[in-house]
Amino acid sequence: MQLTDSHGRTINYLRLSVTDRCNMRCFYCMPKEGIVKKGHNAVLSYEELLLIASIAVEIGIEKIRITGGEPLVRNGIVSFLEQLARIPGLRHLALTTNGLLLEEMAADLYHAGVQRLNVSLDSLNPNTFSEITRGGNLKKVLAGLDAAEKTGFPPPKINCVIMRGVNDSEILDFADMTLSHGNSIRFIEYMPAIKEDGWQRYCISGEEIIERIAGKYTLEQVDKGPFAGPSRDFRIPGASGSIGIITAVSGHFCSECNRIRVTSTGQAKGCLFSDERTDLVPWLRPPDRQALAEVLKGIISGKPERHGISQDGYVHRNFTMSQVGG
Ligand code: SAM
Ligand code: SF4
Repeated sequence: MQLTDSHGRTINYLRLSVTDRCNMRCFYCMPKEGIVKKGHNAVLSYEELLLIASIAVEIGIEKIRITGGEPLVRNGIVSFLEQLARIPGLRHLALTTNGLLLEEMAADLYHAGVQRLNVSLDSLNPNTFSEITRGGNLKKVLAGLDAAEKTGFPPPKINCVIMRGVNDSEILDFADMTLSHGNSIRFIEYMPAIKEDGWQRYCISGEEIIERIAGKYTLEQVDKGPFAGPSRDFRIPGASGSIGIITAVSGHFCSECNRIRVTSTGQAKGCLFSDERTDLVPWLRPPDRQALAEVLKGIISGKPERHGISQDGYVHRNFTMSQVGG
């Protein structure tokens, strides 16, 4: 069954967050301190997350991406993923991670049935990486990427948030990885999640990123797969990896949005930047499959047409990306 929203977009993708905790503190995503730990009962149990996932697939979702916070820090994640992978009708199971625990966990994730890994990596320079992540260890992440490939995963897709004056000098180094290592790179425009005066100074449009790469390489446009969503993809001739841009802030994004989100506390969102959210907990405790299916369908059909970040008069409301799952 194909799910379509009221603006004619096909919705086939659920981003499901399993925790808002993280073992890093990327400055664009989480505040340095002052994160209040959620009560045990506030975070959905694996049974509840599986119920949401199975109902989502039943109504027409085909791809699920597990995210967080950092999904690999939650106890029991591997057996949860095993159960998720067995949901009949789920065509694609992916996971986004910061890669810190990947070296130890890659084999378990592979055998659990995860098909694709996205690893967030914003710098190949250990000092810049440590500054962005407030202390993260680049070596561990690179070892995780290696381990993933040795285990049998296709080269993980790299998510890279480019920020002017922070890591924009590395755009070409990342583009080179599509040739030298076969990774696909997804450049993500910095989004103003945490309210910070002058956030615009970090912004670099996807167009500028592509222009800079095109200054060195010829780029061919790449056809999109069925779950591609709002990225625009290119390839350097001869490279096994592709180069994508997610222009969340500057545009070309909302019209191809194919996803909904559910946070680890059961808040469902039709749009990352909208304040509108629906609390699924009343239909989970006790569980009511039919009502949950109707609520999820309502969130899909009610997806807003577009966000307003780049429009005049946009009122920014603070949120941490780690709570929503990116
Ligand atoms: N911890 C995992 C990780 O970092 O891959 C998964 C969760 S993280 C919130 C998901 C994605 O959101 C990451 O690729 C991260 O770079 C991206 N992200 C977080 N804050 C962002 C921001 N302000 N602008 C753009 N992307 C952001
Ligand atoms: Fe943690 Fe991922 Fe947010 Fe970085 S982007 S702080 S790794 S949740």
